[in-house]
Amino acid sequence: MVDLKGQYEEIKDQIATSFEEVLANTAFINGPEVHAFQKDLEDYLNVKHVIPCGNGTDALQIAMMGLGLKPGDEVITVDFTFAATVEVIALLQLTPVLVDVEEDTFNIDIEGLKKAITPKTKAIVPVHLFGQVANMDAVMEIAKAHDLFVIEDNAQAIGASYTWKDGSKQKAGTIGHVGATSFFPSKNLGCYGDGGAIFTNDDDLAYTIRGIVNHGMYERYHHDVVGVNSRLDALQAAVLRAKLPNLDPYNNKRKASARKYTEALKNQKDIITPVQLGDEDSHVYHQYTLRITNGKRDGLVKFLGENGVPCGVYYPIPLHSQKAYADSKYKEEDFIVTNQLVKEVISLPMHTELDDEQIEFITSKIKEYINQ
Ligand SMILES: *Cc1c(COP(=O)(O)O)cnc(C)c1O
Repeated sequence: MVDLKGQYEEIKDQIATSFEEVLANTAFINGPEVHAFQKDLEDYLNVKHVIPCGNGTDALQIAMMGLGLKPGDEVITVDFTFAATVEVIALLQLTPVLVDVEEDTFNIDIEGLKKAITPKTKAIVPVHLFGQVANMDAVMEIAKAHDLFVIEDNAQAIGASYTWKDGSKQKAGTIGHVGATSFFPSKNLGCYGDGGAIFTNDDDLAYTIRGIVNHGMYERYHHDVVGVNSRLDALQAAVLRAKLPNLDPYNNKRKASARKYTEALKNQKDIITPVQLGDEDSHVYHQYTLRITNGKRDGLVKFLGENGVPCGVYYPIPLHSQKAYADSKYKEEDFIVTNQLVKEVISLPMHTELDDEQIEFITSKIKEYINQ
């Protein structure tokens, strides 16, 4: 599914030099390397504050803690995402409210979102799923009208940009009040362990969050709020700093591979190729996800496996059907799209080292199975 080795081979010397520097100055936590990466990422994203932390799940949790959300506050997010998104809402004793996604983009359904708002709603968490930015025009408008916070789950879309109606662009993750990302190795900007970051343009929120990531400390050994311990270590920061200048080229390679997959698989019966609603910049293809509409998805997964082609099903179970998040308030008719997608989606290998021969092999195997 991902080829981390090939990518590593290309930047090996640079990584070795950076590691040696970190090892020589022994500032393993919050040292100059972490600070330098933070600055580099702020420049790249054109955002005022980047706060590095331990992983993407922490980033989401800390963002919610920073906004001062209280037990019982309702937080709306999508039924079709990785569990981390809803997990942190529940963990903070906030009330998760799951809504369906749109059939074309797999991102938050705007009508479902509107319907889910109650007087207790405090925040919306749009997830830029598979690398495609959600409909932020609509999300921000709704948030403004109802005075809600927007927390972007940008774990899968770092480097993507949203284009506003007036043509101006803004990087995914920097549009809402706060954004969260993950540097898990397989993400578009991945380190060699765990890592994450929080983004915001709000000075006060950034200040609050910088304390929360460090045990609620604003002055040494003065704990003003309940915090957590969530840090990016310097070795991971060194990897990320070395990779950040390559993020756009990496994303461009993913986009080129996505175009080739689509070229080979378009107009095939029973296959729906990914729909990209915005321009070039709106989708960075964290995943390339097909829908197989003839009930042959599971057979295809098996067939590809037998032919040495890895693939993934993201995600096989709607969150509202997971034991941990099931709730009698949910009605199946409110999740028609997610209930369908979990039976149809299949994600193909997607990484920066895919070559034409591999794409040709993978797509020919898919066609062989579908047409047999
Ligand atoms: C990966 C991911 C996360 C969590 O990131 P970790 O670094 O693994 O904790 C959260 N949300 C989404 C949508 C993700 O894909």
